[in-house]
Amino acid sequence: MESRRQFLTFAAVAIGLGPAVAWFGCRPGGEDEAGLSGSPERGFPFQKSDAEWRAALSREQYRVLRAHATEPAFTSPLNDEKRHGIFVCAGCGHPLFASETKYDSGTGWPSFWEHLPNAVGTSVDRTLFMIRTEVHCANCGGHLGHVFPDGPKPTGLRYCMNGDALAFVAGMA
Ligand code: FE
Repeated sequence: MESRRQFLTFAAVAIGLGPAVAWFGCRPGGEDEAGLSGSPERGFPFQKSDAEWRAALSREQYRVLRAHATEPAFTSPLNDEKRHGIFVCAGCGHPLFASETKYDSGTGWPSFWEHLPNAVGTSVDRTLFMIRTEVHCANCGGHLGHVFPDGPKPTGLRYCMNGDALAFVAGMA
């Protein structure tokens, strides 16, 4: 059921919503995005209470990872990170993306054309009058960003990530 919904999401994008959705992709948001229906936080291997998350994360990290906010474009230092390494979840340290799959999408958010194996999960995001595919950490369920079908080869995907949701570990294979 979930895969069918994801397919329909991509199909809807492919038949003409692409430009509009891409323009809104990783649109700056705020606390108004909190309370996303279908929130994926429950049932993940890595668990913390809300109080523990608030204590462990910065305010910006909490707003993105736990409240589905989107950071303003061109604000994350990781947008310009070009060294060899691994981008991990800022919440739990789970390896998410390799530097080899990072590219400059021009959007102002760190963008990747592929994730590491077993790194992320997706859900349908129907907020802001759009149907988007939300991307979250497979280990802690933290919100990372969205994925759009307008990326480069070989996947054609654009994983549009919030830098606040990521931490960079240089030199990791
Ligand atoms: Fe995580």
